[in-house]
Amino acid sequence: MAFLEIKSLCKSFEAYPVLQDIDLSIEKGEFVVFVGPSGCGKSTLLRMITGLETPTSGTIAIEDTVINDVDPAKRGTAMVFQSYALYPHMTVFENISFGLRMAHQPKALIRERVEKAAAILRLEKLLDRKPGQLSGGQKQRVAIGRAIVREPRVFLFDEPLSNLDAELRVQMRAELLELHERLGTTMIYVTHDQVEAMTLADKMVVMMGGKVQQYGRPLDLYDDPDNKFVAGFVGSPK
Ligand code: ADP
Ligand code: MG
Repeated sequence: MAFLEIKSLCKSFEAYPVLQDIDLSIEKGEFVVFVGPSGCGKSTLLRMITGLETPTSGTIAIEDTVINDVDPAKRGTAMVFQSYALYPHMTVFENISFGLRMAHQPKALIRERVEKAAAILRLEKLLDRKPGQLSGGQKQRVAIGRAIVREPRVFLFDEPLSNLDAELRVQMRAELLELHERLGTTMIYVTHDQVEAMTLADKMVVMMGGKVQQYGRPLDLYDDPDNKFVAGFVGSPK
């Protein structure tokens, strides 16, 4: 089995099917980018992997263990949201360390992990600031820091750059690639931005109407799209 296996996964809200029969195998260390129009079920899929939603049917397995019923805190996943979701009254240090403090980790371990994450994200000098004193890019780095200190086996990013201006988005893409190279952790990333997807992805999952349209390397999708929708999405002339 692959590192992360999704099999016959379906999700309906009331009787309305949002995801239908998703099958995917993701290898350890891959940077996999999900793209597709708004409402096609990208966030719902991430939320099921991290345990914020329950599948209607089908399974999600990480390292040969089905995680459908595993406590979200014990899945080894960490999600970064578009909205940052920082606590405004806490400092950067307190925001980054929040999860570890809630889990009653020892103080020395917390300091070590926060300092390591801050160095990776160039936040060392900002640890005593409050979110209100940070730029958009710095806030998003803090949100990523909060995920890094948990040392997850999978990072889940849900449109993390959508609130940033164009220039900063380009810079943050480079930082995310650097982070991936440095940590080697499996990353699952959602965006509706084609350029972002093509830049970041080892593999791309093109979704529409609750189904996977195609899964593969960006260049393979470009060279050999399975249908017109995929061709349009990756800008292929075919
Ligand atoms: P995406 O992230 O691709 O934009 P979502 O996964 O957020 O799409 O949503 C997919 C569909 O599921 C949408 O039609 C959305 O309205 C619906 N949906 C998402 N969450 C819920 C929920 N908690 N209750 C009912 N419908 C939902
Ligand atoms: Mg979404």
